Amino acid sequence: MHTKTIKELSELLQKKEVSAVQLATHFLDRIEKSDLNAFLHVDRALTLAQAAEADKRIAAGTATPLTGVPIAHKDIFVTQGWRSTAGSKMLANYTSPFDATVVQKMLDAGMVNLGKLNCDEFAMGSSNENSAFGAVKNPWDKAAVPGGSSGGSAAAVAARLAPGVTGTDTGGSIRQPASFCGITGIKPTYGRASRFGMIAFASSLDQAGPMAQTAEDCALLLSTMTGFDERDSTSLTAEQGNAAEDFTRDLNKPLAGLRIGVPKEYFGEGLAADVEKAVRAALAKFVELGATLVDISLPNTALSIPAYYMIAPAEASSNLSRFDGVRYGHRAEGYKDLQDMYKKSRAEGFGPEVQRRIMVGTYILCHGYYDAYYLKAQKIRRKITQDFANVLGSQCDVIMGPVAPTVAWDLGSKADDPVANYLADIFTLSTSLAGLPGMSIPCGFGEGEKNAKRPVGLQIIGNYFAEAKLLNVAHQFQQATDWHKRAPSGI
Ligand code: GLN
Repeated sequence: MHTKTIKELSELLQKKEVSAVQLATHFLDRIEKSDLNAFLHVDRALTLAQAAEADKRIAAGTATPLTGVPIAHKDIFVTQGWRSTAGSKMLANYTSPFDATVVQKMLDAGMVNLGKLNCDEFAMGSSNENSAFGAVKNPWDKAAVPGGSSGGSAAAVAARLAPGVTGTDTGGSIRQPASFCGITGIKPTYGRASRFGMIAFASSLDQAGPMAQTAEDCALLLSTMTGFDERDSTSLTAEQGNAAEDFTRDLNKPLAGLRIGVPKEYFGEGLAADVEKAVRAALAKFVELGATLVDISLPNTALSIPAYYMIAPAEASSNLSRFDGVRYGHRAEGYKDLQDMYKKSRAEGFGPEVQRRIMVGTYILCHGYYDAYYLKAQKIRRKITQDFANVLGSQCDVIMGPVAPTVAWDLGSKADDPVANYLADIFTLSTSLAGLPGMSIPCGFGEGEKNAKRPVGLQIIGNYFAEAKLLNVAHQFQQATDWHKRAPSGI
């Protein structure tokens, strides 16, 4: 049952061949036995109560196609009833009085929440090792990181602990873990999914999206997650292009005539040979399916790293000021005065990577440094956005390349080297800075004794609001290949 896709589970539920309670119980049992540390909070009674409601809805004939389908949420989304920690000691005991809009929309559709998923603290990281609650193991190779920051999300789908999950992507946090864990994930256009109730990291970049086994499942989930929300000031309205959409509508369109832009900057120095090989093989497959490859250039790609690692920390330093032990978060004991209480609470509550980013962000926003760093980074952001505008539409319909320069690395191998982690984000940051949709689909494995069991992801980037196109392209690839059907041994 756990190897089935959301689409398949949905059909079984509608035909009443399985009940929502049976499904939830099956996945909860698997979660209980798992040693991956993918889940942070599980509450059997709450899950089963939601499943029982779903069964009632199915019996009453008021179900949606997703009613009774299990889902699990990255612990960045606040949820009523479950703790919401953002992977931080700061929020270790926090329970929200309300649900994030994305969570609420899935509940309204009748989906059943299996629990909350581990992630890097406040979504800052690329390996899930920055979680205050321990690293997550990659189900393909327990010595490897699952990627991050949505590492628990990706590992849960790969290990078939949940058929679909939510993730968030600020600079690659859906695409990179999806790539490292051999699953499918999509970050929609910035402003598509509501950020209300998503614990903020960098508000001009943060975006929610689904992760699942297939593009078809992601399309089903995305249709439920998106839409205007007046409680998010940057949520796009229907008039701006964010009307309710059925993202499955174009899945079966043939790819004949599709122009795929292949940026030379995504195949340069630093790209591992085994990753390049798998990605090039995927491109060849697309040619077989009727697409043509077009050489393009995104000249400012390398600048995405310094620009992102200025802008994201600047926004984080402001967003995280609310965690002061008074308004939100952990409060230290034994302080002398108010200043001391703030200092101690923040020093105890935040982990080292979060503290580093708050300091960097605060520094570059200071009077005297603002123009040299923050303003300059914003100018680079504009140039990166322009790079995409110069090619998308005129030269190509979609852009393809690797998600990350290597397959998943060993747990611990880069844990003390923040810059090494930042550099590995080279291919995902630009898309986020431009606010474009991007996705990752499995397209092979690495090479050599160690890497042969570690998956490689293909990145597909499209124009604003082109999610249906990306999902179409991904689905056609998945109809012609079986990478997405592979599962780690013993599943
Ligand atoms: N790896 C990037 C970072 O550490 C992206 C994280 C994300 O997308 N949330 O900031």
